[in-house]
Amino acid sequence: MKIAKVALPLPLRRLFDYQIPDNITNAKIGQRVVVPYGNQQRVGVIWQLTNESSFEPAKLKYIAECVEDCSTFNTQQMQLLNWAAQYFQHPIGEVVFTALPNALKKHKQIQAYISAQYRITALGANTTEDELKRAKKQWQALQHFQQHITFTKAQIKNHNELSTAQIKSLLEKGFIQEEIDLSGLNNHSNTECASSDSNNSVTPKHELLKGNELTLNTEQAIAVTAISQHTQFYPALIDGITGSGKTEVYLQSITPILAQGKQILILLPEIGLTPQTVTRFAQRFEVDVNVWHSGLNDTQRMATWLQAKRPTPSIFIGTRSAIFLPFSQLGMVIVDEEHDASLKQQEGFRYHGRDMAVMLGKMCNVPTLLGSATPSFESLNNALAERYHYFKLPNRAGKSVPPSYHTIDLKGLHLRQGLSEPLITAIKSSLKKHQQVLLFLNRRGFAPAIICHECGWLTECHRCNAFYTFHKASNRMICHHCTAQRPIPHQCEACGSSNLVPVGQGTEQIEEVLTELFPDTPITRIDRDSTRNKGSLDAAFNDIHQAGKRIIVGTQMLAKGHHFPDVTLVAILDIDSALYCADFRAPEKLAQLITQVAGRAGRGEHPGKVLLQTHYPGHPLLQDLINNGYHHFAKLGLDERQQTQLPPFSHLALIRVNAMAIPAINHFFAEVMPHLQQLTDILILGPIPSPVEKRAGKFRYQILLQANERRTLAMQLAVLLPVIESLPSARKVRWHLDIDPIDLM
Ligand code: ADP
Ligand code: ZN
Ligand code: ZN
Repeated sequence: MKIAKVALPLPLRRLFDYQIPDNITNAKIGQRVVVPYGNQQRVGVIWQLTNESSFEPAKLKYIAECVEDCSTFNTQQMQLLNWAAQYFQHPIGEVVFTALPNALKKHKQIQAYISAQYRITALGANTTEDELKRAKKQWQALQHFQQHITFTKAQIKNHNELSTAQIKSLLEKGFIQEEIDLSGLNNHSNTECASSDSNNSVTPKHELLKGNELTLNTEQAIAVTAISQHTQFYPALIDGITGSGKTEVYLQSITPILAQGKQILILLPEIGLTPQTVTRFAQRFEVDVNVWHSGLNDTQRMATWLQAKRPTPSIFIGTRSAIFLPFSQLGMVIVDEEHDASLKQQEGFRYHGRDMAVMLGKMCNVPTLLGSATPSFESLNNALAERYHYFKLPNRAGKSVPPSYHTIDLKGLHLRQGLSEPLITAIKSSLKKHQQVLLFLNRRGFAPAIICHECGWLTECHRCNAFYTFHKASNRMICHHCTAQRPIPHQCEACGSSNLVPVGQGTEQIEEVLTELFPDTPITRIDRDSTRNKGSLDAAFNDIHQAGKRIIVGTQMLAKGHHFPDVTLVAILDIDSALYCADFRAPEKLAQLITQVAGRAGRGEHPGKVLLQTHYPGHPLLQDLINNGYHHFAKLGLDERQQTQLPPFSHLALIRVNAMAIPAINHFFAEVMPHLQQLTDILILGPIPSPVEKRAGKFRYQILLQANERRTLAMQLAVLLPVIESLPSARKVRWHLDIDPIDLM
């Protein structure tokens, strides 16, 4: 009897056994199938093939059909997903389905997404210029085919010298023919990552490069030389200040690997924010540069996904889920801005893209680079403990010098809607020199609340422990926790007064006050509201890259890797809330943010200046950061974490629970706690209400588990989770486990 163990998208920690009927002779692991489940037909993935089942074989249902002949997942992917399910303690079926592109979660064949391409025929290949004397344009087009053999429809669309009209006439004359390219798609359940002997033809460098390489400085050269000597797993931290030339190190490190015909994966926190990175890779190499991010539709995603299956030299630049692409010949993994929290998925299968990238590099046995100007304490600790090779780029490449830091003591100062006089003076002086100014405030909207001036009543969201944010442009109150909206109140709901005023500032308000103060200066605001429409972010970046004075106002989105070469003054309007925050990672995050935002300044010829508005200019953390820099700060921070036994010197898992009513949560804890109390060598903190105790109408509680050894935690959790799952009270609440949580809210 043949039995398939099938992964289904269900929150259950197991595979599902099905019999393979005699008419299905091609069943293989990694292949998508349709199976009966309850009274439904569902798409699943064959994860194991076996002859045994712990269920009575005769009672097992049969697989209904295979979606297609080939496997969707290759063995290396399956190995990575198995590891991830175990490490992050998440049900395998949900892990597998997180890794599937949406298009393939349905009963739809991969073939449907393979767009046709055109291939030169023997006739076309043997046709000479003489024979096409009268058709110069056609000859020109045919020459491209003689050189490149095939072109996909997408390539033709982007090609300056190939038009649809020419393709049509080449087709009519039989010089080219249409075909569907299935190469790389068959038998890939056997494909492995590139092994060093799989491909021994090497493309000469001049054929690979289309852009010039820069002459490396000493630090860059040391890194590139060391990395290039390794084709096997070689984890390295590239710790370089902003503008130090990390990207150039990546570009030159991957050159020999591309020359061997291999693929490169580059993970970035958010691609939309750094289109320059994609451009730099595309301009350097004569290979396909594929992108992967949430802005793509199913067809575009599948194009990248299919490209990963083809064993051709190519580059894949994507956000965290690009880790799941079906690479056939991976040669290097790079995680840029590795400190960025958006590499961690915060819902469903909560994986960390960086940790998975390191595991992928290890499984594929290829060099794996993590880069940042502000490395996470975790990676820094790994580098200091020599688990990672460590390369430092302490100087800016090119001519620019790092910015200088200054604090503005807000105590007693008059503020004009959040802007102090010394700041306004500094802005004026930069604008006078026709330079750009960047103001950072991590709060969108006009004001974070509206308050009654008579009695202090605040517009609180009824569904959350939070206030509505006042959005002036859209004339709404919006809760940033649950997205609920309400009209602007005109009367206090407690005392009836109409004396209602906004409190605090958001980016909208800063933009407004700047428009009053600097009526002749163009202002660009970049936040999630201002960039909601398609193309608006690109338009904003284009404006910024126009020479001339300008003020840029924005949120977090400005901190992510973008270059603003004309910016010479950066101001961070409010850092105080983060200086006194309960989260043990708050200082690390604040230091990263300040350093990253500051790194946007002075990248051109003029030195940059960073102004920090604060009521606590003497705060020791702040002083250490601005006097001694991020690395000094981070080392002190790591010492402190070691003394207090916090990550990375201990390991955390967070159980989060939410429900519409508190008794259900109490009932759950009453059943769970006795089991937790039996764990050994694990510290249990809680249950306590989450910092945001109520969100979207649900009450939220949590229990933090802490252990000195990861194994202690992992092994006991693996036993405990099925027990919790089987508790009756666990079905009356929603709960999940977050391994290595980075957000304790
Ligand atoms: P990072 O990725 O560390 O922020 P980049 O690679 O973007 O730094 O480099 C910053 C700037 O310095 C870029 O304009 C880049 O072209 C330039 N640059 C990098 N390396 C060199 C070099 N070796 N010589 C001259 N300019 C360089
Ligand atoms: Zn009132
Ligand atoms: Zn709300």
